[in-house]
Amino acid sequence: MRQRILITGASRGLGAAIARHYAGPDVLLVLWGRDHERLEQVADQCRDAGAMVTLRLLDLVDPAAALAAIDAEESAGAIDIAVLAAGLGDIQGRHERSEDPARMVRLGLVNFVTPSAMAAALADRMTARGHGHIILIGSAAAFHALPFAAAYAGSKAGLARFAQALRIGMAPYGVRVMLVSPGPIDRPEGRQVAAPQRLLMQPADVAARIVAASARGDAHLVLPWPFAALRLVDRLLPAGLRDRLLRSLRPK
Ligand code: NAP
Repeated sequence: MRQRILITGASRGLGAAIARHYAGPDVLLVLWGRDHERLEQVADQCRDAGAMVTLRLLDLVDPAAALAAIDAEESAGAIDIAVLAAGLGDIQGRHERSEDPARMVRLGLVNFVTPSAMAAALADRMTARGHGHIILIGSAAAFHALPFAAAYAGSKAGLARFAQALRIGMAPYGVRVMLVSPGPIDRPEGRQVAAPQRLLMQPADVAARIVAASARGDAHLVLPWPFAALRLVDRLLPAGLRDRLLRSLRPK
């Protein structure tokens, strides 16, 4: 039987790279996104690798629609692996003193509320079957109070805490939950990522690392390694010094 793998944010970037990585003759990929043309392009690449593919266009600002779609996908066949990769990035403009509240609402829904609700709905189905794997794509930003990306860091921090709690709660039922906290990933098809070249990762490499970590049964993948070290430094620095350092950071 083909393994059914759901991937959100599959139309570009990391989600598309994960879809291409999993694509093979023994797999049915359930790909979600909003951009039909791009999603079709990724689907064709996956079909060329032997995968069966179904597509769904859905805006994740609507958690109720996302939950209804999970019901529909599960009625068509049990999801074995769910990779919730869709996400919105945002950085405060140079002349803004705080973030735009309407943008913050979208960010909170797409990065935290909807993926958490989807993960809970999937976990419930998976516990009844006694197996399943949920992979939540967070961000290394979750572990730092970034003043120029407060809503982004906050939404990913919420997702990180949720993922850890869900993992602990689901373990006795045979359902695995993994949190991925990446540093900067190149966006060949989109907006440039402001980061030093030597830290910038390629989506295909990150996808390969995620699939390997999931096969090992890892609980949390932070990559590249300097971001795991930074997370410790953030915790150990005296608060005043840490705040001054964070205030001095502002990507171009
Ligand atoms: P990306 O290239 O900007 O692609 C984002 C994906 O999410 C697209 O497939 C997009 O779909 C989908 N998406 C965005 N808003 C959506 C919405 N409202 N409803 C449904 N789908 C939506 O992103 P990426 O750089 O590959 O990032 C992938 C994940 O990694 C995200 O969760 C991101 O936060 C996280 N991450 C990225 C970086 C980085 O530096 N790139 C670093 C750390 C963590 P459409 O294009 O079809 O609208």
